[in-house]
Formats: sequence, structure tokens, C-alpha cells
Amino acid sequence: MIDIGRIRVHLMNDGFFAMDGGTMFSVVPKRLWSRQVPADAENRIPMSLHCPLAVDGKEAVLVDTGIGERLSERERAIYKVDRRGGLIARLREIGLDAEDVTHVVLTHLHFDHAGGVVARDDSGAWRAAFPRARHFVQRVELDAAEHPADERAAAAYRHVPECIEPLRRAGLLEVLDGPTVLSPHLRVIVTGGHTPSHQCPILADGGETFVHLGDIAPTRAHMKPAWNQSFDLDPTETMAAKKCLLEHAARERWWVSFDHDHQVACGRLAASWERSGEIDDSRRWR
Ligand SMILES: [Zn+2]
Repeated sequence: MIDIGRIRVHLMNDGFFAMDGGTMFSVVPKRLWSRQVPADAENRIPMSLHCPLAVDGKEAVLVDTGIGERLSERERAIYKVDRRGGLIARLREIGLDAEDVTHVVLTHLHFDHAGGVVARDDSGAWRAAFPRARHFVQRVELDAAEHPADERAAAAYRHVPECIEPLRRAGLLEVLDGPTVLSPHLRVIVTGGHTPSHQCPILADGGETFVHLGDIAPTRAHMKPAWNQSFDLDPTETMAAKKCLLEHAARERWWVSFDHDHQVACGRLAASWERSGEIDDSRRWR
């Protein structure tokens, strides 16, 4: 947990999973990336499902929702999913329920970020997991997910109808057109790169700033400009967004929050961040 002015940010986590290290580091040779994050016997690296929750008075803003309950047993084995009760259990540990979440900001609609927007009701049907929350997604991202341009996009977004329809039916889906100020202390910027309209939320109060990097730099190792995922639709756009955001964060001592780092939820950039991927003041999930 950290305080950004009078906003309390709980470093929530929907659990852990694992992805192929080659996929996560694309053109970087294994000899280099495996020194930063060791792979298991199937070449998978451990990853978190970090979903920070910013509480400000009666407002509780959740960033991304993790994998949730959607995956089949086979998929859970492939991705080594270990949710430890998931986000709802973490919320209960701080005395909150799913009904207390007022806003959900979705960086993008991949399964490990948007899967937790739905939960099963008593009849086994999917319903909104956070039934009172306004859910914010970029229009270009939603269009790309609902009308995939090719087979690769169709595979990446195959779960989306099941996740989005319950939100739409409940009137909880709010579509954004570009960078938007959501409240006096919260705005989103559009980075693109990873997906057509990937967005990053930025919280600011009392002279402190917190940015969630989403899949622009999902782990500390990905802070290096050329270390990108093979999932990125446009790696040059990812690199440009990453450099711009991280240079800003370094200069102004922002907190940077990592979606998938298996050890560190957030921290501030060390002087040598660009070369070493090091951070100061590192914090883990709750
Ligand atoms: Zn992603």
C-alpha cells in the first residue's frame, strides 16, 4: 500500500500465472532475459496479475481485473494459474466487497487484464463482477476486440464477447475517445503499441504521482527500451510510449506500477533504470 496525497493505493493482485519467456521478450536472447527472470522447465516465466486499487473517500478505482474465473482447467494448466482466492479475496482482506468498486479502468482487453470483469451468478451465467462500477475502455480498443482484423487479433480477443456483453447489458460500459480526465486526480493517456489503443491511468494528488504501466512495460526488465513482448502489435509505438512515460517518471519521481513483475508491484526509478531496469523503494502486493 502507498499513499498518493490523500489517495490510498492498495497493491492488489488477482494472483500469479506464467507465460512463455520467449514470447515475453521477443527478440531478446534467452541468455540475457533468463538472468533477469529464470524460466521453468517449460520455458515459462512467473508473472503477477497486479490490479492496483485507488481509494479516495467513497470512490474506489480498480485498474484491470486479472484473469478471473473464466479459464478452463486446460488453460489454467498451460498458464500455471495460481489465483490464491483472486481479487475478491484481496478486497475482503481490506474490508471491501466487489460492490464497493466504483470505477474499473481497463488498460486493454487481453484475457489477463479483462478476464475478471465477469463472475458466474448462481445459475452459472456470466454477470458483471463489479456490479456498481463504471468500466472504462478506449473505443479503438473495443472496436479492435469486437471486430478483429485478422486471425491473430481474433485469437487474442476470443474471450471478449463473454466479458463485454454482461457489462453492456448492465449499462456499466463507458467508451473513451482518447486521453481523458476521469476525475480531478485521475486521467488516462493512450499509448497504443501493445494493442491499438492501450491506455495507462495516472493518479496524482499532494505532489505525488502514480502511473500503471499496463503492458507497455509489464516487468522491471521491460523498462529497457528495446526489451518488448512479441504480443506488441506495434513495438516501435511501445518503445516511444515507454521512453516518454519513463523519462517523465524518472524526472518527476513518479511511482511506476508493473502489471506482471513477479516480485515488485511498484517503485520509483533508480538513476540507472534505463540500463539496469533497477528501481528504488520497491513495494510488493498486499
Ligand atoms: Zn496484453
